[in-house]
Amino acid sequence: MSKHRVLILGGTTQARQLATALAERGDCELLLSLAGRTATPMAQPVPSRSGGFGGAHGLAVFLKAGDFDLLIDATHPFAARISDNATIAAQQTGIALFALRRPVWERQPGDLWTCVPSIPEAVAALGQNPRRVFLAIGRQEVSHFEKAPQHSYLIRSVDPVAPPLAVADARYLLATGPFEEAAECALLAENRIEVIVAKNSGGAATYGKIAAARALGIKVVIVERRQPADIRAVATVEDALELADHLFSPEMKRGV
Ligand code: NAP
Repeated sequence: MSKHRVLILGGTTQARQLATALAERGDCELLLSLAGRTATPMAQPVPSRSGGFGGAHGLAVFLKAGDFDLLIDATHPFAARISDNATIAAQQTGIALFALRRPVWERQPGDLWTCVPSIPEAVAALGQNPRRVFLAIGRQEVSHFEKAPQHSYLIRSVDPVAPPLAVADARYLLATGPFEEAAECALLAENRIEVIVAKNSGGAATYGKIAAARALGIKVVIVERRQPADIRAVATVEDALELADHLFSPEMKRGV
């Protein structure tokens, strides 16, 4: 029997975990796609490719040319453009699509959260008075904080922030998760952090800073997700495997 050809749009821990689990089934030919932003990406468990497709149409052409049966969007919940492109490409080609999307973090008792819809609004939420701020939002949108040069920043990212932020006081920390609560507590205390800016990414790998902030009584400006693309979504790798099984069933393949 021919194998199911699956394209996974990745760039997340969950995408790697799903690729590993699907590979173990033995009935799939997998390709994991990365945006190619990270200078030294982690080793991937299955064959991978890197770089954009050239928009939704480019992705549709790639899916057709590769004779794929299934597209799985396992990108980061804040990577909105690729998810929109996946939706359009699936519609154009008729290829099955679903998303693996971890649930948002919910506010817990003791959390001192200010929720905002975007990074520019996170900048404004820091206020006028100088504060010691930990930016844990990746590097792509960090430059917005140049609008608030009165604060002291500790900025953590996987790759260097280039060019550096045009503010008087910014320090940089290069690190890749997961980040445990105890280590996050130590980092926040050592740097006398007063407020954290974080995206509501969901999942366990970067939750340590949220738990640490709660334990230490530190404020967090949470950037909420925009409304996700209107596609079928599952929250866990197990649910993704189950749904893939369903989609691979002979009835579904015949379209009944
Ligand atoms: P984005 O704004 O949604 O995507 C911008 C463009 O990058 C897309 O239009 C596409 O180019 C290309 N692209 C994105 N993901 C791709 C993938 N997996 N494979 C091939 N091309 C991809 O995404 P982003 O926010 O820049 O994030 C880029 C990648 O980093 C994503 O894959 C995401 O999973 C990962 N990531 C993002 C964040 C975050 O906070 N945004 C955090 C952690 C990891 P074309 O239109 O040319 O196809």
